[in-house]
Amino acid sequence: MMRVPSVRAYRVAETIAVVKFLTDFDPEYGSSVTAAPGIRRLVCPNPGPFTFTGTGTYAITSDVGAVIIDPGPDHVGHLSAAAVMAGSRPVAAVLVTHRHADHAGGARAFADRVEAPVLAAAWSTTEQSAPHPKTAESWEDGDGIGVENVGDATHFARSDEAVVDLPADRYLSDRDILNIGGLELEVVATPGHIRDHVCFVWRRGGAVFSGDHVMGWSTSVLPPPHGHLEDYLRSLKRIGEFGDLTFFPTHGPPIPHAGDYVEELYAHRMMRTSQILDALSRGDGTIEQIVRQIYVAINPLLIPAACLSVWAHLEMLVDQNVVVVVDGLVPTLTSRYRLST
Ligand SMILES: [Zn+2]
Repeated sequence: MMRVPSVRAYRVAETIAVVKFLTDFDPEYGSSVTAAPGIRRLVCPNPGPFTFTGTGTYAITSDVGAVIIDPGPDHVGHLSAAAVMAGSRPVAAVLVTHRHADHAGGARAFADRVEAPVLAAAWSTTEQSAPHPKTAESWEDGDGIGVENVGDATHFARSDEAVVDLPADRYLSDRDILNIGGLELEVVATPGHIRDHVCFVWRRGGAVFSGDHVMGWSTSVLPPPHGHLEDYLRSLKRIGEFGDLTFFPTHGPPIPHAGDYVEELYAHRMMRTSQILDALSRGDGTIEQIVRQIYVAINPLLIPAACLSVWAHLEMLVDQNVVVVVDGLVPTLTSRYRLST
């Protein structure tokens, strides 16, 4: 169990945490490139607000076979090119980091095409990663503040970030060791961005396939109802154990020696938490009021995303009894919040 931080612990974190993003990435659509020895990458032409330049599908190859990680959306041209990327080697398995449509929408069609099994974590009900009903409930009737903004966020969240129904041929668990296609890969469960998220570690190649858990171009969104900040922070600590390796996110460029970057992501969330507590120390507040205080000069188009981020923090702080909801039982987008006494 992660230790529950006290208010004092958050105050200590009150420094300006700067995340040094990596955005220099200009993929050529339709043809794969060598990303590192034994690793090829093909980017799908589905750029967007959650996908950056598009979904990066990876092939890891050995002398005897290949595995494909995140085939991507159900995009015929991309899936055809991904099949070519494996070359003449048989595809031993199709691995899926999580069930968002931009990663897994084409997984079953691709697996059938290359006659390989789909391997993914179970979309199951463990205590740690079960959906959070209070969030789901308030997401569904997310009216009130900035209705149109929330609507926009809903739209985004339900396109690329929609969850697909993907039964796996084999279900993965944390710390599983996969011996497939002449390769040895380790499974690391990383819930937070979504409950079924896993990363894949290929130690021999010095690589971590980090999905949407750690990306160089952006912080991860934690979309309701399946995103969860405390799980995400715990998963950052977990994947940080592999910080001397190069991370290959599904979107954007690789992150060499990613450990420092993972710490920056963690510090950034601690800073936000600290800012939210500071805002509430000046009096009760709604999410919208908090956003306007702590996101200085924010582009209005980003306000819905900021509201969702602050909401994720408040949900965690309410769980930890650091903050209470003034006008209801559960933390919603429209609730008033105050510090607990
Ligand atoms: Zn995702």
